[in-house]
Amino acid sequence: MAQVIDGKAVSAQIKEELKGKVAALRTEGVEVTLAVIQVGDDPASSVYVGNKKKACAYIGIRSLSYELPEKTSQEELLALIHELNGREDVNGILVQLPLPAHIAEEEVIGAIAPQKDVDGFHPQSVGKLCIGQPGFVSCTPAGIIQLLKRSGIEIAGKECVVIGRSNIVGKPMALLLLRENGTVTVAHSKTENLKEVTKRADILVAAVGKPRMVTRDYVKEGAVVIDVGIHRMEGNKLCGDVDYENVVPVCSAITPVPGGVGPMTIAMLMNNCVESVGLQGK
Ligand code: NAD
Repeated sequence: MAQVIDGKAVSAQIKEELKGKVAALRTEGVEVTLAVIQVGDDPASSVYVGNKKKACAYIGIRSLSYELPEKTSQEELLALIHELNGREDVNGILVQLPLPAHIAEEEVIGAIAPQKDVDGFHPQSVGKLCIGQPGFVSCTPAGIIQLLKRSGIEIAGKECVVIGRSNIVGKPMALLLLRENGTVTVAHSKTENLKEVTKRADILVAAVGKPRMVTRDYVKEGAVVIDVGIHRMEGNKLCGDVDYENVVPVCSAITPVPGGVGPMTIAMLMNNCVESVGLQGK
């Protein structure tokens, strides 16, 4: 029987730990504060922002909400970020992506002070991850490492294959698995003989963005399968990049969708907010 890796339970455990840290910081006079900026009112973004603010409230992190109109100019957004960068009472700054087409995302991400970059998307954060220095790490891959570790799954020495090379998931995932001493392969849309590559994996991470693409013929017997994908299907049902029912019989452990990787992303964002406190003024 495959072990079902319970992201809800692990994220709840992390949130409880963070609650304690936030309360301890408060007794020292520090109120952990996250500024959340949303431009426009994309419904999916509104749901994500709402969930992040709820998690803040649960843990005791103060959230400052900036809901800007769709027509906000890049200059106006950058001015707000500069103001927040300079505020001593703001520890973390999060700009919900995607931004409207007239705003250059990379300009905005690059404007966030690296010590407040709780999403881990700033080029300095990515560079530090690459050369093994401490810094903020993109929340979804950081959450996957926590899921693996807290489920007792060994990474060191294992063959790890990541399907997907996005800046937010695939690439940082590969770097983190490497940091944990995995032997890492990154597969992507141009990879030839994909199934042969993925069948080498002891740990297979699917971050491909294609509903139920990964079937059992991509999976080695006994592999650990991590499903990053989230897709809303007919009847409002959620599914991942992995064909769960088909893969369960051959793997040793698997993350479900929902309830696997998804809840870890917000938990790690909260973790980054708490960690940002130690970086202020540096
Ligand atoms: P993306 O579209 O930016 O990247 C997908 C990657 O998959 C690309 O690098 C591409 O090269 C690769 N790819 C596409 N088709 C392929 C194919 N046929 N074979 C092999 N590789 C192929 O997506 P992303 O932002 O990395 O997200 C991936 C998935 O994870 C999406 O379903 C997204 O919704 C989900 N996601 C979930 C969370 C979470 O919190 N659980 C967070 C971020 C993204």
